[in-house]
Amino acid sequence: MSRIVTYSPAYTIVPTYECFNHCTYCNFRSEPSKSSWLSLSEAEAKLLSLKNQGVIEILILSGEVHPNSQNRPTWFQLIYDLCKLALSLGFLPHTNVGPLSRAEMKELKQVNVSMGLMLEQMTPKLLQTVHKNAPSKIPHLRLQQLELAGELRIPFTTGLLLGVGETVTDWKETLIAIANVHKKWGHIQEVILQPYSPGERQIWNSEAFDINLLPDIVAIARKILPSTIALQIPPNLVTKPEILLACVETGASDLGGIGLHDEVNPDYPHPHYQGLAKVLQSRRWQLIKRLPVYSQYDAWLPTNLGNVVSKWRMRLLIDLSGKEEVGSR
Ligand code: SF4
Repeated sequence: MSRIVTYSPAYTIVPTYECFNHCTYCNFRSEPSKSSWLSLSEAEAKLLSLKNQGVIEILILSGEVHPNSQNRPTWFQLIYDLCKLALSLGFLPHTNVGPLSRAEMKELKQVNVSMGLMLEQMTPKLLQTVHKNAPSKIPHLRLQQLELAGELRIPFTTGLLLGVGETVTDWKETLIAIANVHKKWGHIQEVILQPYSPGERQIWNSEAFDINLLPDIVAIARKILPSTIALQIPPNLVTKPEILLACVETGASDLGGIGLHDEVNPDYPHPHYQGLAKVLQSRRWQLIKRLPVYSQYDAWLPTNLGNVVSKWRMRLLIDLSGKEEVGSR
């Protein structure tokens, strides 16, 4: 077994925080029309400042504008333009902005190396509780997105939100749904296991998910999902090193995008990758960088994206062989 754990050096761009859903655990959203949207020139200035700083992935993460809103086309165009901008500056975009129409997904495939949407949980009972006022959290709507991504051959990231009122049976049902859709299309590259972690801005008053349970869920997920799908755990939410190591020993192989700030969980800063590498080294795990698209999907990418990805693969290879040489001295 190769003792390798990966992470993606990433920066998150937020076109808008406004969102028509009201998930009660949310620490991200603002009311529609209560905050300004990011402009392309602001984004360009930020992205230019990130050049040669080690960032590879630009995660475009947005609050959701209602599909029937008159602002939807402008919102979508901004997302598309941000992806194009990131690409033109040599970064690799990954978009996660809620459920999209087939036409929207098809267009975004041209400017993204992968895309994502958390399935969260398949159980409809959350629609009576934390998702009572979150129309786009209807489980079958989200599962349809996974189907659509497969049909369009988009390398995809999804995941489970843990500790929002579901049971162990619900975890299994959600994991089985992901395994089934992957069996059909082969496009799920990674599954995030995200423990609910309360923040300052949310309205829901509930205890954090008990992270001591995380290694058990990793083991369950590892059994249900095909081995080609990486299991990701967010290191800023798994604050105990022994739990992080236990998750890795039971089958988690990725720590996700690590950047300056976690927009979804703003109260939990990302640890520095060097600190994480040290923790992992204590059990002979090596932490290495990865791209936001897994190599088995390179052939699915439009040619222009494939070319940028090839260059990054080469750079990472040179980076890694340099380190190994230094390490062997
Ligand atoms: S969790 Fe996502 S979908 Fe729910 S309110 Fe927050 S931004 Fe909107």
